Amino acid sequence: MDLLIPDKTHDESRQGEALLLEPVAGKNNGRKLYIESYGCAMNFSDSEIVASILQDKGFETTTDFNNADVVLINTCSIRENAEQRVRNRLKEFTVAKVKNPGMVVGVLGCMAERLKSKFLEEEKLVDVVVGPDAYRDLPGLIERVDDGQKAVNVLLSREETYADISPVRLNSNGINAFVSIMRGCDNMCSFCVVPFTRGRERSREPLSIVAECTDLFNRGYREVTLLGQNVDSYKWNPEKQGAKVEEQKPIMGMDLLEKVLSSGEDLGETQDQALEEVKEGVTFANLLEMVAQISPELRIRFSTSHPKDITDDVLYTMKAYDNICKYIHLPVQSGNTRVLKLMNRTYSRDWYIDRINAIRRIIPECAISTDVITGFCSETEEEHQDTLSMMDYVQYYFAYMFMYSERPGTLAAKRYADDIPEAVKHQRLKEVVNKQQEHSHTRLKQLVGTTQKVLIEGFSKKSDKDYSGRSDQNTVVVFPVGEGYKPGQYVNVYIERCTTATMIGTVSPHTP
Ligand code: SAM
Ligand code: SF4
Repeated sequence: MDLLIPDKTHDESRQGEALLLEPVAGKNNGRKLYIESYGCAMNFSDSEIVASILQDKGFETTTDFNNADVVLINTCSIRENAEQRVRNRLKEFTVAKVKNPGMVVGVLGCMAERLKSKFLEEEKLVDVVVGPDAYRDLPGLIERVDDGQKAVNVLLSREETYADISPVRLNSNGINAFVSIMRGCDNMCSFCVVPFTRGRERSREPLSIVAECTDLFNRGYREVTLLGQNVDSYKWNPEKQGAKVEEQKPIMGMDLLEKVLSSGEDLGETQDQALEEVKEGVTFANLLEMVAQISPELRIRFSTSHPKDITDDVLYTMKAYDNICKYIHLPVQSGNTRVLKLMNRTYSRDWYIDRINAIRRIIPECAISTDVITGFCSETEEEHQDTLSMMDYVQYYFAYMFMYSERPGTLAAKRYADDIPEAVKHQRLKEVVNKQQEHSHTRLKQLVGTTQKVLIEGFSKKSDKDYSGRSDQNTVVVFPVGEGYKPGQYVNVYIERCTTATMIGTVSPHTP
């Protein structure tokens, strides 16, 4: 049992969601693509890149896999149950493939990378296996399958960031978008499969990020979430990355940047400053500032921060810009120093507390959320109590809470016994979840009687008489639909009451 109190980077309600794009005039090869995604926001963002690549080759999308010529499933390997979910889904595709033997079935993402060609042996209906750095090769791989072969490309890259591919986001709400700023991870936390499935860490060229966010803003989006496994280690160094600044524009060769820069749309200071800043090398704090300067009307979020890397510079940049949301996802994993050491997290309990104190000192109103793993190898009852006491200290707004799931090939799988009985892992998870529910409720109750600036995202899940949006601190706010405001706009909402996960209020007359 994994229990989540949802924010948006792992949105349970989006698991298995299929992408639907508008057909592009003049580009139609007569074939239909079905693509669905599992796992974290990075995978959903990657599926948009894949869809862009295939749309460019004339594919049209469909949301019914029974009608598709190519069926792709973008997979997650983070825990065993994530992989099981994908295997069950593949069984459902088997029936469709029996009816339509020409259908190409492809597996993308982390599971493809982890299992490589073994996937073809284990799941007979799969024709194509493609790792996260090989998506540009997909059209060629599909051709190979058309010629009667099976096809695999799981090569990891040290350079690929897909910076020049502007993702298509047609079935999004047109208000929030995820923008990938880096790929891979160099951290080697002992429980985690990501460094093996997504390869070495690399940062995306900063002007391509600013250009993508500017384009989104110009198309009406009002919130971007900058994505990376460890955003604090974002670093763009033009010299090291082999590009002199003067040469960067042509090197980027990006349709999008060219479009934004040549359309006469004024990026004003942002553009000049951005070009200046890339000369010096760009840190995450610099990047945040560059994106924040696109417009005060564009909200910026980011995920995920790593406790060992989050700097005061980032915190001061957040404080300096009203449009950088005061919300940090800072996974703790465990509140005990010995367990953190076994997890290879490279920080201690005291270090984590020091970072929490820095956030409180610099941005007192900042909401903090976290990830917790229960029942990691050799974790004692006392060490588990340290996690609970850390939760009491921070009083997180949200948490993702998981039982430890051993992943083949990870450092923990090689070095330590997965020796905590399932029932104990389960019991500890239950205690962590109960505590978090208490804290989430406490945090929301503290906001009753305040006024929150909310970006309206659409109708509430329960009723089209109510709108739903998020506060700066990323809490869901529900309030009655009314004249004079609509999705994509900001309103000030007076919070009248709350449930454990939602604030309920009315729009204040002093709306921006
Ligand atoms: N890079 C981010 C970080 O360092 O926090 C998150 C990466 S991971 C996709 C998201 C979360 O999954 C982790 O923070 C961790 O809590 C959880 N996770 C990763 N591997 C796990 C495992 N083997 N068992 C249980 N939970 C795991
Ligand atoms: Fe996995 Fe650790 Fe990298 Fe996060 S920082 S992706 S948990 S290895």
